[in-house]
Amino acid sequence: MTEMFKKLFSKLKIWRSLKVRLFIIIFLMGLIPGLIIRASILSSYEDRAVAVRQSDVQNQLKIIANHLITYNYMQDTSSEVINAELEQLSGLYSGRVLIINGNLKVIKDTYGISEGKTIISSEVIKCLKGTGMANYDDKNGFIEITTPIVETVSDQMATEAVPAGTELVRGVMLTSVSTDIITATMDILSRKVLIIECIMVVCLFAIAFVLANALIRPFERITKAISEVKEGYTNEPISVPDYLETEHIVDAFNSLQNRMKMLDDSRQEFVANVSHELKTPMTSVKVLADSLIAQQDAPAELYREFMLDIADEIERENKIINDLLALVKLDKAAAELNISVINMNELTEIILKRLRPIARKNDVELLLVSTREIVAEVDEVKMSLVLSNLIENAIKYNKEHGKVTVTLDADHQYFTVEVADTGIGIPEECMSQIYERFYRVDKSHSREIGGTGLGLAITRNAVLLHRGSIKVESREGEGTTFLVKIPLTHVMV
Ligand code: ADP
Repeated sequence: MTEMFKKLFSKLKIWRSLKVRLFIIIFLMGLIPGLIIRASILSSYEDRAVAVRQSDVQNQLKIIANHLITYNYMQDTSSEVINAELEQLSGLYSGRVLIINGNLKVIKDTYGISEGKTIISSEVIKCLKGTGMANYDDKNGFIEITTPIVETVSDQMATEAVPAGTELVRGVMLTSVSTDIITATMDILSRKVLIIECIMVVCLFAIAFVLANALIRPFERITKAISEVKEGYTNEPISVPDYLETEHIVDAFNSLQNRMKMLDDSRQEFVANVSHELKTPMTSVKVLADSLIAQQDAPAELYREFMLDIADEIERENKIINDLLALVKLDKAAAELNISVINMNELTEIILKRLRPIARKNDVELLLVSTREIVAEVDEVKMSLVLSNLIENAIKYNKEHGKVTVTLDADHQYFTVEVADTGIGIPEECMSQIYERFYRVDKSHSREIGGTGLGLAITRNAVLLHRGSIKVESREGEGTTFLVKIPLTHVMV
């Protein structure tokens, strides 16, 4: 049953509202102390009023008890003075006084009902032994008091058995006093408190409503500001510094927005770059074709020469498209990795074999240093891209009689591939940009040697997909060293 209530409660949309929760908390925080204060004020008033009444009556009773002895009332109840005093007392406190002698016989009842009767009650008997008591019966609304009627033995009355000064209990005054007046006062008090409480509830309701609204307002401002950004009215960073919490939310949103802006900018830049790169070979093809068309009776050699140039440009266009496709594939999720156990030494040798003709053409010596056998869990195709891009760059951007050294090494966790060349090097200020798409240090030189500016972007993406790292060190005019570090085992996430 409670589970059902819990479920129902959690489903109630209104209960999930922070504003409603704050409202209830503020309201209860005002109401509960109010109720506690009311209950404790009423109960302490009652205690105090009963105690005061009790002690008043007890004082009066003590005085009358003395008079009873003085006027010898226990033997003769005809004393006008005492009877008047007793009547006055019972009238004043709306009570009843019974005077009981040592034989437990009622000798006087201010109500005149029980005279002559015998009363046997533990309180009366206790009182005859000298111990008076007072009891408050809050259900029936009266205080019952027993007062011993004590006679002090005078010198004349003293005997050997009962010396002077001895206190003898001659009887008991059994008094019940009404507390109706206290109850009536309590009723008036509690009615007044109830009215105050009602006013308090209304005020609390209003205060809780206003406070809950005010406390929630910064969060509503955040929602509004985010909606405005979403609708595209503004791109400005949001600022809601009212609370630390709102500041954190807003900071997180602003950095998300910045990141999205950056992504959007880089996407736009990428599209512009792609269009430009794809257009360049097409423009060359058009120029070559146009000039052939313009020449009437052009010799066959010229045709052949221009067609070779056109074929080169188409080849270049092809290369850019292939690189772009490779890059797009690498941009997809890591799940795209096709992991298998690969012998890295063998893979590197295959790639070096494929690149040797280019190296020979550029008069560059290719060297492989393998310190140990490396078997790693990698994507063969992507790892081939990494190696061939780095080694091809090392050949392309080398000098005559240059050298490229590929060093393979491993520890128990990672394997490393170092590609060091003795080439032209990369200027210090360009180092941070070389992994960007279409970035080339020397655009015309790179184009001349068939670079697309995508090689290192592909390499870096492939390395990161393998949860590895890539570092570069270079000195202009002296050479460049790329160091790739990749885990030997692939951990799926
Ligand atoms: P590209 O297709 O032009 O070679 P990359 O992305 O592979 O494009 O490289 C980006 C740029 O970094 C190159 O244009 C070149 O200027 C520079 N670069 C890359 N590797 C080397 C290297 N080994 N030595 C000198 N410069 C290099």
